[in-house]
Amino acid sequence: MKSPPRTTGAPAPPPPSNFIRTIITDDLRTGKHSRVVTRFPPEPNGHLHIGHAKSVCLNFGLAAEFGGVCNLRLDDTNPETEDVEYVEAIKTDVRWLGFDWHDRLFYASDYFDKLHDCAVRLIEAGKAYVDSLSADEIREHRGTLTEPGRDSPHRSRSVKENLDLFMRMRAGEFADGTHVLRAKIDMASPNPVMRDPPLYRIRHAAHHRSGARWCVYPLYDFTHCLSDSIEGITHSICTLEFENNRPLYDWVLDQLAVPCHPQQIEFARLNLSYTVMSKRKLVKLVEGGHVSGWDDPRMPTICGLRRRGYTPEAIRDFCERIGVAKRDSVVDLAMLEHSIRDDLNKRARRVMAVLRPLRVVIENYPEETVEEMEAVNNPEDPAMGTRRLPFSRVLYVEREDFREEPPPKFFRLAPGREVRLRYAYIIKCVGVVKDETTGEVVELRCIYDSETRSGSPASARKVKATLHWVSVRHAVDAEVRLYDRLFTAEDPEAGRDGADFTIFLNPGSLERLTACKVEPSLAGAAPGARYQFERQGYFCVDPDSAGGALVFNRTVSLRDTWAKIEKAAAGDTAP
Ligand code: ATP
Ligand code: MG
Repeated sequence: MKSPPRTTGAPAPPPPSNFIRTIITDDLRTGKHSRVVTRFPPEPNGHLHIGHAKSVCLNFGLAAEFGGVCNLRLDDTNPETEDVEYVEAIKTDVRWLGFDWHDRLFYASDYFDKLHDCAVRLIEAGKAYVDSLSADEIREHRGTLTEPGRDSPHRSRSVKENLDLFMRMRAGEFADGTHVLRAKIDMASPNPVMRDPPLYRIRHAAHHRSGARWCVYPLYDFTHCLSDSIEGITHSICTLEFENNRPLYDWVLDQLAVPCHPQQIEFARLNLSYTVMSKRKLVKLVEGGHVSGWDDPRMPTICGLRRRGYTPEAIRDFCERIGVAKRDSVVDLAMLEHSIRDDLNKRARRVMAVLRPLRVVIENYPEETVEEMEAVNNPEDPAMGTRRLPFSRVLYVEREDFREEPPPKFFRLAPGREVRLRYAYIIKCVGVVKDETTGEVVELRCIYDSETRSGSPASARKVKATLHWVSVRHAVDAEVRLYDRLFTAEDPEAGRDGADFTIFLNPGSLERLTACKVEPSLAGAAPGARYQFERQGYFCVDPDSAGGALVFNRTVSLRDTWAKIEKAAAGDTAP
C-alpha cells in the first residue's frame, strides 16, 4: 500500500480512481441514481480514530466529488456502551477534519419506532420468530463453517404466538436474554450469518436518547440496512468484515416494502503499523492508564492526533494517498508522518529551541551588548516574513552538538573547532568547564569572529556545521514532550493466542524534557500553535500550557538522514 512520496511543492495529482468511484460513475451514467447519498455511521462508544478518518474522507469526499450529500448517522442502538460525550466528540472531530453534514445529522435511535414496525411486519409475514433458547443454546444450534446448524424448537411457533411474545418482550415482561427475535432464513445456509440471525434483544437499560422508553433494542444487521433505506442512501460503504453480512443486508430489505434498496460496498479497513485501531482496544489503553486519555498525543485517535499537532489537511492527504482497496493491508506509519511533514513544511514558522541546553560563553563578546539578528520565518514561504532574534554573550546550544572527543564525521562543536551559529557568527570553542565532582561538561568557553555575522561580506567563510542557539538572557523556559511509537511491535496484535497487546507497549514512548529553552518570540504562544524547531522537528503547543508555562508536543521529527547513517554504521557518531 505504500505509494511513492509526492515531491514537496509539486501540484497535487488528481485523485487516483478506485473501484468505488467507478461504481458511482456508472450508476450516475446509467441513471440508476441521479444524486449520490452516502453516510458515515459511527457507533458513539468511543472517540474516532485515523481508521474512521479514512471512512469519513471516503464518504464525505465521494459525496462532494459527485455533487451529492453525506449524512452523519450515530449508530446508537447499544444502550450500555454509548454516551452523549462521544456523540459530541464525534461531531467535533468530523467538523475538524473539514466536513459538514449540514442538516443531515441522524440517529439510528430516532428510527426505533420504524424498526419495531418492520420487525412486526416480518413476524406477520412468517419471516421472523421469537426464540426462547439461551444464548449458549443458540450458539450450540448454530453449527460451524463445515456443519449446518439445527433448527430451534421454537422456530415453528405460529405468527400469533410470535406477535404476542414480541409484544410482551417490548412491554417489559421478560428478563434480559430470555427471548430474542430471530430472522427465519435458513439454518443450513453455508453462510453462518444467514442462519436465523438475531434481530432484536431484550435489554433493560436506559438509552442516552430514548431514555427508558424501550427495553428491546434492534441489532446491527437489522438496524443498519433499514437506517440506510430510510435515509435514501444510494451507496452504503463499509469495511470488508461486513462482506458476509451483505446477503443479510439484502435479505432484510427484500422482505419489506422499503423506500429504497441501497447497495452495500465493502472496502479494506485501514491498519497502521505499530498501532492498534479498534475502539475496544483504545478504551483499554485509556482505562488501563497506559495513556493519559483518549487525546493522549500517542493515540491514533483524531483528538490525539490533533493534540499532537496534526492538521486536518495532512490527515486528508494521507487518506487520499493510501487509496481504497478490496484487500486488507498494513500501511506504514511513516506514510502518515510523511503527510504531516509535507504540510507543516509549508506552513510552520521556524523557531530556535534548545531541548537539552549547554551554556556557551563568548569570551570576546561585550557583556552588555544585544544584537538583533534577522531570521527567516519560513524559507518555503517568503510571505511569512522575518523576525528579530536577540543575540548576546551567553547562549544555550544543544548538548548533543558538542563532543569533547569528536568521532570521525562529527563536524559540530569540539575543542578547537569552529561552527556557525545560525543567523549570527562563527564561534570557536576554546575551553570546557566541567563540574568538579561529576566531571560533566557544564559550560563551553568560545570566541567569536566579529567579521562573520550572517549577511555581511565576510560571512561566506565556510564551516562544516550550523547550530541553533538561544540567548540565555532572553530565553523562555519550556517543557517539551517527545513521543515515539506507542508499541514496539509492528503488529501489536500479533501475540494473538491470548497474549494481550499491552505487552508490546513501548516504555520509551514518552520522554519529557523539562529544562528546555526557547526563543523569546514563543512567549505566550497559544495552545495548538505549530512550529518547526530548527534542526529538530515540528512541535505544537499543548493545552497544558494554559497556566503560562509553555509545553510543546513533538508532532514529528525532521527527516533525519543522519539517524539512518548512524544506524547503518552502528557507531556512536553524529555530524
Ligand atoms: P472499531 O473497531 O474501531 O470500533 P467500528 O467499525 O466498530 O470500529 P464504527 O463506529 O462502527 O466503528 O465505525 C464507523 C464507520 O467507520 C464504519 O463504516 C466503519 O466501517 C468505519 N471504520 C472503522 N474502522 C475503520 C478503519 N480502520 N478503516 C476504515 N474504516 C473504518
Ligand atoms: Mg463497532
